[in-house]
Amino acid sequence: RELKETMPTYKGLENFKIVEKMGDGAFSNVYHALDLTTNKKVAVKVVRKFELNASQRANILKEVQIMRGTNHPSIVKLISFSESEEHYFLVLELMEGGELFHQIVKLTYFSENLSRHVILQVATGIRYLHEERGVVHRDIKPENLLFERIPIIPSKVPAHRPYDEEKEDEGEFIPGVGGGGIGRVKIADFGLSKVVWNEETMTPCGTVGYTAPEIVKDERYSKSVDMWALGCVLYTLLCGFPPFYDESINVLTEKVARGYYTFLSPWWDDISGSAKDLIQHLLCVDPAQRYTIDEFLAHPWCNASPAPPPPPT
Ligand code: ADP
Ligand code: MG
Repeated sequence: RELKETMPTYKGLENFKIVEKMGDGAFSNVYHALDLTTNKKVAVKVVRKFELNASQRANILKEVQIMRGTNHPSIVKLISFSESEEHYFLVLELMEGGELFHQIVKLTYFSENLSRHVILQVATGIRYLHEERGVVHRDIKPENLLFERIPIIPSKVPAHRPYDEEKEDEGEFIPGVGGGGIGRVKIADFGLSKVVWNEETMTPCGTVGYTAPEIVKDERYSKSVDMWALGCVLYTLLCGFPPFYDESINVLTEKVARGYYTFLSPWWDDISGSAKDLIQHLLCVDPAQRYTIDEFLAHPWCNASPAPPPPPT
């Protein structure tokens, strides 16, 4: 066996015991840690201050401020925030199941029922951000959607058992068919998020009277960036690969700009027309035409109950 990596210690984080690394970004490391004062498991995002310029530092504080104001089952909670001379420490609710991204890689793709179960949780989190907090997340992607616990994937399960919320706790999970045991999915990483809408008045932030029309329009449509991203996540869940991809960044940029994607055969052959219709209303280049979160949640695909199991033969 490999030698276990020794865990770093941080000045200012003496009340926590770092257990293992869970992820890292450009300026941060995220650890699974134990809060020694409460004996509770947490996640700690440690951000290196010295590598940040003034506006990046301001962004961290904005991330903290936005997270402090949120309280929803589909959004990762910020437990506390502190800083030392060298670091910022964001103590977060621990999401032991890791990234949705890894589960897609592991399972190839999700069934329609399981995809619905996952995407509805993300969507209710987005509705809360958009409608109750006036916040746009701006970085919705499978790496920033985390499972509360490790999804249980038993080896032997009936092949046609549809996803059933009641059976959640039995821990059944059927790749590509349905299944439960997958638990909650939550939105993380508010590093790029922005308050665009005043919570009380539901008007754009700032003084509207002197704001240029392009800014007013921009603010009105800013939430639509999350809806595009939600469409990309749903597409990826259902087939296992993203709607827009190319090895050349220039070609990829052009494909996105034109909204050029296809429901590639054979992968999409057995996926319902209703799911495709919903994706078409999200991956739509004109933000004014794109579904809002309420339109998304009202779509028949989101409200379909899991298909009944086939009759016994
Ligand atoms: P960055 O801005 O660097 O992307 P994130 O907040 O997205 O920072 O964290 C980076 C990674 O760390 C995530 O993609 C995820 O794998 C892991 N991570 C973040 N927050 C948690 C958490 N609360 N619980 C478990 N893992 C987490
Ligand atoms: Mg991230």
